[in-house]
Amino acid sequence: MAKLYFRYGAMNAGKSTVLLQVAHNYKEKNMKCPIIKPKIDTKGDNKVVSRIGISSPVDLLLDSNESLFSDSNLKVLKDSICILVDEAQFLSKNQVDELWTITKYFDIPIICYGLRTDFKSNFFTGSKRLMEVADELEELVTICSCGKKSRFNARIVNNNYITDGESIAIDDNDSIRYEPLCGNCYLQKVLKKF
Ligand SMILES: [Zn+2]
Repeated sequence: MAKLYFRYGAMNAGKSTVLLQVAHNYKEKNMKCPIIKPKIDTKGDNKVVSRIGISSPVDLLLDSNESLFSDSNLKVLKDSICILVDEAQFLSKNQVDELWTITKYFDIPIICYGLRTDFKSNFFTGSKRLMEVADELEELVTICSCGKKSRFNARIVNNNYITDGESIAIDDNDSIRYEPLCGNCYLQKVLKKF
């Protein structure tokens, strides 16, 4: 039976780059490999955009309450060799459950890429459900500026580390940026514990 994979990491772990490479490998062999993206992310609109400058159109832009089992969505997904999901942390619990069902019922592997936690180190809804039901988990590693492995995402507003606010704030607001940090640097810089 096909598996549901969750490949997760902190910001800048190269998740979108890996997704685009996988999509390219299938598409150059003329294999159907649609890309899904939750609509909440306004960064790339209907594109997957990698920080190293490559991008690809999205085949299915999902509204927050939209089902994958509508006739039009199933048409996009059925008979695929593989399905890829960008920014999977923004999926709803129900959408993750539907993806899992697709892997089993249609025997199509699905690879989800996303953040594990938000800037307050809490699960996103989609990530939590993926951690619960995915058949395979893989951490994509990114390195903190001190050289250690990053597991935390710091939110920086006007050059200050922030510990309060909504989990999702990815508007076109240029004053907000994110930095991947290791546990030690998160404690020092963000929580200011020592
Ligand atoms: Zn560090």
